[in-house]
Amino acid sequence: MPRSPAPFPGYTPDVRKTLLALVVPEGLVLLLAAVLVRWPAALDAAGPVLAFLPLLVPAAGLLLAWRFDRGRVFFALLALALVDRGISWAGVAGTSPEAVRDLAGVLLPVGLAALALLPDPGIFTAAGLRRALALAAAGALVLVLARPETAALTAALAGGRVAGALPGAGRMGDPALAAFALAFVLLLVLTLRGQTPEARGFLWAAAAALLGLAAPAGAGAAALPADGWFLTTAALVLAIAVVESSYAMAFRDALTGLPGRRAFDKALHRLEGPAVVAMVDVDRFKAFNDQYGHAVGDQVLRMVATRLDDVGAGGRVFRYGGEEFAILFAGGRLDDVRPALEGVRAAVEAAEFILRGPDRPKKKPKQTRRRRGTNRVAVTISIGAAHRDSREPPGAELVAAADGALYRAKEGGRNRVRIAGERAARTR
Ligand code: GH3
Ligand code: MG
Ligand code: MG
Repeated sequence: MPRSPAPFPGYTPDVRKTLLALVVPEGLVLLLAAVLVRWPAALDAAGPVLAFLPLLVPAAGLLLAWRFDRGRVFFALLALALVDRGISWAGVAGTSPEAVRDLAGVLLPVGLAALALLPDPGIFTAAGLRRALALAAAGALVLVLARPETAALTAALAGGRVAGALPGAGRMGDPALAAFALAFVLLLVLTLRGQTPEARGFLWAAAAALLGLAAPAGAGAAALPADGWFLTTAALVLAIAVVESSYAMAFRDALTGLPGRRAFDKALHRLEGPAVVAMVDVDRFKAFNDQYGHAVGDQVLRMVATRLDDVGAGGRVFRYGGEEFAILFAGGRLDDVRPALEGVRAAVEAAEFILRGPDRPKKKPKQTRRRRGTNRVAVTISIGAAHRDSREPPGAELVAAADGALYRAKEGGRNRVRIAGERAARTR
């Protein structure tokens, strides 16, 4: 799973933001599906359309995944469609729908978790072919094992002590519950660590698939029973994740995880009323890169991004380009913004950026030992800001004024904040 940049060591995550990012929008889609399925009569009114959804939604998802080259989602959608068709067409194939469900309950969560954890194979690649073959093998296995002749074998998958005691387990057996539990733990960790739309999509798709496989017989609408309904929702959630992650790619900067230039331009264009724009530039960064190398330079940019993101006062932080960042305070008053900017400047200056060299441990040590030869690197930023009280001047001019102030901050000796139109003495 492509991870977005790990937060810088010492970074305290914002729980509210993390929870919101975890649930929106895929979680809401599943919630809506769960609510809708409670009114089969309303759903039946949409009968003919409904009956096509289990084919249409995965097909649309597969098309998207193919166009956006998302192998992981592509094969997950194939797996979901296979399970859905496996249950619907069980009679035609001479298999027992119950047995298909029991087998899928174990194979599907394992497959979803494996796809999410392994690297994206692409679609028409050797690794993609291996995924396709594994899927075909799993499908063939279900076809063979779900026949009446092997009922004794699949019966072992149904029921169980946990399933019996769990009121919501529906038709799921203990092995399926265990497989789903394992998949959820893995997918949740993946989602919280990487916070990518794709990881989130897999997590919620697994939740939807669980609801589908656990749905009691006869639940849901006649045209689309609850199991098909939830498996289709799982496919929808994954299709949404493809769109979401493409959007995130276009508007987010890959290195820092901040919204990028495109997002800034859009926000600037929409700016109305009073506002403050601050331009931030890392001091003497070229020399820094030359001395420590580009990789360490990148680490510093992530650290600076993390500190800036905590600016407060309603500021939204963007990576403007290179080692420059922009902060937008829509509706911001200078009196609130000034201390916020001074705060992030001081926070970057105070940040402990220790060069740990090639033997730098992956994790931040609990106790930072002051080893000999450990370099504490000083990183500072300069900030130029400009404000307006009304609609005028337009955003672009505000940026130019902030740039001018930034230039003065650099000239004034760096590591300081300058506000356009104010005398130097007013700030640091
Ligand atoms: P000043 O204090 O005047 O801002 O000096 P400076 O050296 O920071 O200014 P300048 O704009 O000349 O240097 C910017 C440098 O930032 C050039 C480039 O090597 C580096 N840089 C730009 N983008 C990245 C990046 O994504 N990663 C790394 N590591 N370095 C970058
Ligand atoms: Mg620069
Ligand atoms: Mg610079």
